[in-house]
Amino acid sequence: MNAGDGTGAALLRVQGLCKRYGDTNVVDDLSFAIAPGECLGVIGPNGAGKTTTIRMCLGLSAPDAGDIRYALDDTGSTLRMPQDAMAIKARLGVVSQLDTLDPDFSCAENLLVYGRYFGMRDGQIRQRIPELLEFASLSSKSASRPAELSGGMKRRLSLARALVNDPRLLLLDEPTTGLDPQARHLMWERLQQLLLQGKSILLTTHFMDEAERLCSRLLVLDHGRKIAEGRPRELIARHLEPDVVEVYGVGAGALMESPLRALAARVERSGETVFFYTQSAKALLDALAAWPQLRTLHRPANLEDLFLKLTGRQIREDA
Ligand code: ADP
Repeated sequence: MNAGDGTGAALLRVQGLCKRYGDTNVVDDLSFAIAPGECLGVIGPNGAGKTTTIRMCLGLSAPDAGDIRYALDDTGSTLRMPQDAMAIKARLGVVSQLDTLDPDFSCAENLLVYGRYFGMRDGQIRQRIPELLEFASLSSKSASRPAELSGGMKRRLSLARALVNDPRLLLLDEPTTGLDPQARHLMWERLQQLLLQGKSILLTTHFMDEAERLCSRLLVLDHGRKIAEGRPRELIARHLEPDVVEVYGVGAGALMESPLRALAARVERSGETVFFYTQSAKALLDALAAWPQLRTLHRPANLEDLFLKLTGRQIREDA
């Protein structure tokens, strides 16, 4: 089964999605699908259309064209957004970028109120609350209000809340933005746990290490269009040379005009760092021994290199 290729069952299938603001196509003929068990990452520079896409999938913004269909239960019945918005939301798990926890309620009450909103019975929700709080490492905070929680705890409570209806598919908009490394790693671990349980995830992220760690497939957006799609490692192998040598330090820029250029397939400069992309770094590293004042970092090509190659190094206006 591979929903991404357009065959087999998909939990979410988006076809020909378009959204215009003024004269700009911020989402432009976008199609993708998520198969059961997949974690699909949507990456792209600021203003690429990631949030607008998620908002349309959630019925928070109306598409100008296109089709959004969900199949979220065993019956195989298809639900369409926005026509079936309420039924879809009752079966989805959503964590938005903004904190939408109710400040007047405790952690446990936040879960209860959220479940009620989707028509769940109190008894059913109360039964789930202890395991959800435990999953979020918040058992000891059951009676605390959101204001008493750290940023990481709030985000984990939002994740626990998104799980109250035991959804098969979670839509997460930048789930770790603003978190410190410890809180981010804990969040990754929890998301991995959900994937192991068989849940599916659509997430947007600015963190390439997050995308590489969690996502089985990636969608790269730029200017509202899909510019690449595939497994992280396959995309890297398809678009990049395997070896990268970063050279930095005062005077590194002069390497751009040096014969060393010929030892790499591609050379780029960003500030005072020069990036050599090569099939094999040996000859280049040997030659760099003649430049002892410069520092070098030899590493495999990664998703950040791919992202910069596909979307460029220039800062976007929205950034
Ligand atoms: P991303 O999440 O990838 O950073 P967004 O989906 O937030 O991108 O935005 C895509 C583009 O649409 C941006 O240029 C943004 O300024 C524009 N945009 C988003 N929402 C609105 C809106 N409500 N009105 C006008 N322009 C918008």
